[in-house]
Amino acid sequence: MTAPYAPSANLSATTETAEDSLWPLLHAAQQSLGCVSPTTQQQIAAKLKRPVAEVRGVVEFYHLLSSTPQGEYCLRLSDNITDRFDGNMAILERLEQRLGVDLGHCRADGRVSLHLTSCIGLADQGPAALINGLPLTRLTLRRAGRMAQLIEQRVPVANWPRRWFHINNTVHRAGPTLGCRIKPGSVLRRAWQLGADTVLQHIKTAGLRGRGGAGFASAQKWLHARDTPADQRFVIANADEGEPGTFKDRALLTLQADALFEGMTLAGWVIGAKRGILYLRGEYQYLLPHLHAVLARRRAAGLLGARLLDTDNAFEIDIHLGAGAYICGEETALIESLEGKRGIPRLRPPFPVNAGYLGKPTLCHNVETLIQAAQIIQNGAAAFASYGTPASPGSKVLSISGDVARPGLYEFPLGVTVQQVLEACGAQNVQAVQVGGPSGCLIAPTEFQRHLCYEDLPTSGSFMVFNHQRDILEIARHFTRFFAFESCGFCTPCRVGTQLLQRAMDTLCSGHGSRQQLNDIEEIGEIMRQTSHCGLGQSAANPLRDSLLRFRALYEARLSTIEASAAFDLEARLAETRQPAPANTTEPAP
Ligand code: SF4
Repeated sequence: MTAPYAPSANLSATTETAEDSLWPLLHAAQQSLGCVSPTTQQQIAAKLKRPVAEVRGVVEFYHLLSSTPQGEYCLRLSDNITDRFDGNMAILERLEQRLGVDLGHCRADGRVSLHLTSCIGLADQGPAALINGLPLTRLTLRRAGRMAQLIEQRVPVANWPRRWFHINNTVHRAGPTLGCRIKPGSVLRRAWQLGADTVLQHIKTAGLRGRGGAGFASAQKWLHARDTPADQRFVIANADEGEPGTFKDRALLTLQADALFEGMTLAGWVIGAKRGILYLRGEYQYLLPHLHAVLARRRAAGLLGARLLDTDNAFEIDIHLGAGAYICGEETALIESLEGKRGIPRLRPPFPVNAGYLGKPTLCHNVETLIQAAQIIQNGAAAFASYGTPASPGSKVLSISGDVARPGLYEFPLGVTVQQVLEACGAQNVQAVQVGGPSGCLIAPTEFQRHLCYEDLPTSGSFMVFNHQRDILEIARHFTRFFAFESCGFCTPCRVGTQLLQRAMDTLCSGHGSRQQLNDIEEIGEIMRQTSHCGLGQSAANPLRDSLLRFRALYEARLSTIEASAAFDLEARLAETRQPAPANTTEPAP
């Protein structure tokens, strides 16, 4: 199915949250001026009566904001490992040559800037890129050359061939979520008949758990948010889908937006919230017109606003556009971001369900979770739990990419084996599978009978397949670079540790590593796991840990014959990482 947007769509039509007026000003400046310059930062700070350092800190934190001008044509090439497989480096080279612009820079005449960016949610149709916020899929060298011509001729992006912007939301295997059919308003009417306590009981009986990966029991979160005394509560849909290789929210936002908004409204009614916020990752800006159109339809049908379907129930939904920061997928970082700050994860407790957005009880759920909550009320808890395992009821939407015959979207009952998934997507000659993205788990063929579920291999939905032609060390290095790039820099173990791991992998991949260095990597990874402030730092060494554990012979084969060449002063480096994080935040959120 084609994405419901056009290259000419008005991208500025975002509804920002009312409490913080910083974001509309930042987005407007970035879009109209090509940057948020120091002068603009001062003007914004003066207007909002905020310290200019605070505004500068926000601008510097997010990848899609910049304090120096971007080109009239701002090109961001997606750099997921699957884009590498698809040849994005050759395309980068072609663009650099034809346009005379260096990576990470804006050309002197201001015409074009060129960047690499983390996965933009198009791993099933790469190599992909964003140009002025619009998605380009299946790039080829020939197309890159043509793009360069159009840029030199100053042809507006709106007049570029539409097929270049075509997104396939190819569903190879639908289940109750991808195939969800909810008549707008029907779930709300049913919920009002049942009553809030019964709705909660249904969610609990169904055994719904968060589909973002952590898997906390949804009913318990709803209860906490409802029962914490407060004058205001919020529901947040986390659509900051940044895990490399994941694109299922892109598809769900396109195909199931009504069901998502129905789920948000349902949750709001149960917990007593009158406002919901969809946090949309900045890289999905092109979905805004479609999402606003669905919201407008729901408003016109009385499904949003001060009197839902002429009852005394009220609920409104805003959309907040992110600005490029993987860490904002973590719910407390997301809330900080919503409040107009840098997306640095909060200390927990308090948990968001007790004190979240603006210090009020906030129910933050993954897009898929909210759609499934609506499904449960429509079809019943038993229908939901008829899929999956006793500990992991329901189904899971997977984004499958890499070395498979049929990349795209698949929905399976939880508990499905990796082998069953590989057969469904036509994978052959498989060397390894990255389950749940770089922060998840890399597994070898001996483990393909393992199950995708909370009690075995939990996943947020990313499923990347690597055949025997792929270099496992290069893959691990790529993921290590990703974490080094996305570390927010707040705590030392992660800030320093990700850099150390990246340097170690560069040395190893160049054939100059030593056996000692392998041990060092494991020790640094362990320190990061134990002392980092949030999940990013705690999981940043996972790709190295997993690949070392399962493919050690590949590392050994790459070691330098001169062991002493390892330029790695471990003790000095470890001393840097041993500064403790502010608190242990590994406790699961209620
Ligand atoms: Fe930021 Fe620390 Fe989390 Fe890394 S572990 S992303 S530096 S808060």
